[in-house]
Amino acid sequence: MEMKLDGNAAAGIPQVTFPFDMTLVQATCAGCGATNAFGAIAAYMHGMGTVVRCQSCDTVLIRVAQVRGRYLLDMPGIRVLEIGTES
Ligand SMILES: [Zn+2]
Repeated sequence: MEMKLDGNAAAGIPQVTFPFDMTLVQATCAGCGATNAFGAIAAYMHGMGTVVRCQSCDTVLIRVAQVRGRYLLDMPGIRVLEIGTES
């Protein structure tokens, strides 16, 4: 079972792995080069974890899974992760 959410909703899970405000993050897709605010990116949450996809080309940007008390973070589709320090 899969639940589609926007990146703002998904930000709660990676917050453990990304210790900054995810609403200030922009991601550039390695597949198509589009840069989008993290909050505008589609996220799919299910039992295995969270998959964040590019809203332009559907490339998998980030996968997050929690296994035995550890977070596994894979970012196969991120070319650049731009982290703002203020809004
Ligand atoms: Zn893309």
